[in-house]
Amino acid sequence: MTLHDLTVAELAAKLSSKEVSAVETARHFLARAKAHESLGAYLATNEDVTLSQARAADERIAAGDKAALLGVPMAHKDIFVTQDFPSTAGSKMLEGYRSPFDATVVSKLAAAGVVTLGKLNCDEFAMGSSNENSAFHPVKNPWDTSRIPGGSSGGSAVAVAARLAPATTGTDTGGSIRQPASFCGITGIKPTYGRASRYGMIAFASSLDQAGPLARTAEDCALLLSAMCGPDPDRDSTSLDVPAEDFTKSLNESIEGLRIGVPKEFFGEGLSNDVRSAIDAALAQYVKLGAKLVEVSLPRTELAIPVYYIIAPAEASSNLSRFDGVKFGHRAKQYADLLDMYRKTRAEAFGDEVKRRIMIGTYVLSHGYYDAYYLQAQKIRRMIADDFQQAFKQCDLIAGPVAPTVAWKLGEHGNDPLADYLADIFTLPGSLAGLPGMSIPCGFGADHMPVGLQLLGNYCTESKLLNAAHRFQQATDFHLRKPEGF
Ligand code: GLN
Repeated sequence: MTLHDLTVAELAAKLSSKEVSAVETARHFLARAKAHESLGAYLATNEDVTLSQARAADERIAAGDKAALLGVPMAHKDIFVTQDFPSTAGSKMLEGYRSPFDATVVSKLAAAGVVTLGKLNCDEFAMGSSNENSAFHPVKNPWDTSRIPGGSSGGSAVAVAARLAPATTGTDTGGSIRQPASFCGITGIKPTYGRASRYGMIAFASSLDQAGPLARTAEDCALLLSAMCGPDPDRDSTSLDVPAEDFTKSLNESIEGLRIGVPKEFFGEGLSNDVRSAIDAALAQYVKLGAKLVEVSLPRTELAIPVYYIIAPAEASSNLSRFDGVKFGHRAKQYADLLDMYRKTRAEAFGDEVKRRIMIGTYVLSHGYYDAYYLQAQKIRRMIADDFQQAFKQCDLIAGPVAPTVAWKLGEHGNDPLADYLADIFTLPGSLAGLPGMSIPCGFGADHMPVGLQLLGNYCTESKLLNAAHRFQQATDFHLRKPEGF
């Protein structure tokens, strides 16, 4: 088997037994990233930096260090700030920006031995569902390069699917790990809100943003998540006071008798038939594995779209006010006075979708509209979270589709942002509730495009989710399939 077909677990074992070196592994993946540059997954690589990290990993291995991910190469979504690579958030606003520090998730992975291959393309400030909102270039889906990879962590999903990295980091505000994982036929997990530190994650909507890994298998996600999570009280005030866990420990537990809730609202008219059949088959597979299906109801599923598209822009409009041309990032070259400088800077460097969200956010927070929109949205958000608690009285996990269709064509949604927003319907409820969620490959739909099964758990039940996903992957081979030519 070639190096790039190994899972993180397999690669880590070969590295620690010195069957391969970290330098050799890093070189191999850098060469692949270059050979498949036309996919648009990477925004930055730096051979010198990567190889020097790899050499340091080889030295640690030689010295007998047993860190779990020693020498494993990974690439980070360009939402995480990094000292050694530029950090752009997919925006012209931060083109060329260098952070003086690493995001906590990045430094935790580095401490576990990860070697950084580079930074990955994404929708501008993580706003989008197709990666077409990147200010630099779109990312192509390796299963069909005329299609989108999903977003906003499109580069992260494509790098794994096309074997340009064994695993990557992503962020999920309203589905940005789960949806691209589903569209690219890989595995991804967004942990409970607060389990991974947001320090150094360029903020989009702070009450929703969460970091998580994308990889080929649930086992790999468990390994990576164990290194990424943990409290960070000094630097992220919303980080949960829940100790880091070894999520690999509970893999292989039997799922005999596991109650899987199937929300009827996830199977309405909007769901395309090809996705429905793949999901039905996956649920049948769970029954074979000993799980029981229970119908549950999440009655406010449809409301998740308007609620999310009020709350997320509201927070974004506030978070993005820091990009004013003064402290960092782009500054307009010519301006008359301070106000004119702010105006020109922001007009020049933000893309259309970002501007749209800032305007919506400012509107819903403004005097006279706050009560009608923002406050109402917050109330319904609470009800959505309560609906999940009702459902979890009847089941241990919830399963359903990640998205209503398979990946659409590049340019297909054209200038219709609402088409993108509506496609987020199944991922937004879990995000608003702050719950952990996964996407695992479960079949193929129209035009042989991958379909992902979404698993949602109650707060801090990541190990239950990962175990259920792992059991599924022991019995199926969808996660082993790869796009032709990669
Ligand atoms: N598609 C959603 C949005 O555009 C979610 C993005 C995300 O999770 N970062 O906001």
